[in-house]
Amino acid sequence: MNVVIFGAPGSGKGTQSEKIIEKYGLLHISTGEVLRDHIARKTPVGQIAKTYISQGQLIPDSLMIRILEEIVDSEPKAKEGVILDGFPRTIPQAEALNRFMERRGDKIHHVIGLEVPEEELVERMLRRGQQTGRADDNPETITNRLKVYHESTTPLRDFYIKEGKYRQINGSGSVDEIFNSISEAIDKHNA
Ligand code: AMP
Repeated sequence: MNVVIFGAPGSGKGTQSEKIIEKYGLLHISTGEVLRDHIARKTPVGQIAKTYISQGQLIPDSLMIRILEEIVDSEPKAKEGVILDGFPRTIPQAEALNRFMERRGDKIHHVIGLEVPEEELVERMLRRGQQTGRADDNPETITNRLKVYHESTTPLRDFYIKEGKYRQINGSGSVDEIFNSISEAIDKHNA
């Protein structure tokens, strides 16, 4: 089973991914974490990523798609199922992902859409910034990230609704309540 976890920045993708992995044993691929790791290791990709991330902009599609495909191809465990966290974020990324999965004789089964009111997203990111020191969780970058999300990423909702893969989840509430809704949606469609 391959899952995309989808939602605005601050919607709880990382937190819920951890729970989904525990229950369904999938390989977690977070493109944000991959990029932050490149930045920490000061690699050439990290140098490029840093400029975009610090401005709340998306890394160009061609580079992001190449990075994602290389990771999936290099992980033997990916064959048993992955959870993609933070990818795709644009229509070209989603189209590339469909082609890539098809080449592997595989597909995306579920897109878990975490829907959270905007005020709550901002509060959560500001709190995370204070608790973890994550550099892009500051008021100015948060505003840009939400703008980019509305412009470039929200069209994916309709894209995946048309494909019959979108599972709408209320992303407000406790971590366990949200996870229960996710499990129910996955199990219902797998049945
Ligand atoms: P995240 O941890 O998913 O919130 O990602 C943090 C930042 O990494 C984003 O604001 C983007 O700058 C960059 N990023 C992560 N995933 C992608 C992606 N699929 N496409 C473009 N940029 C990305």
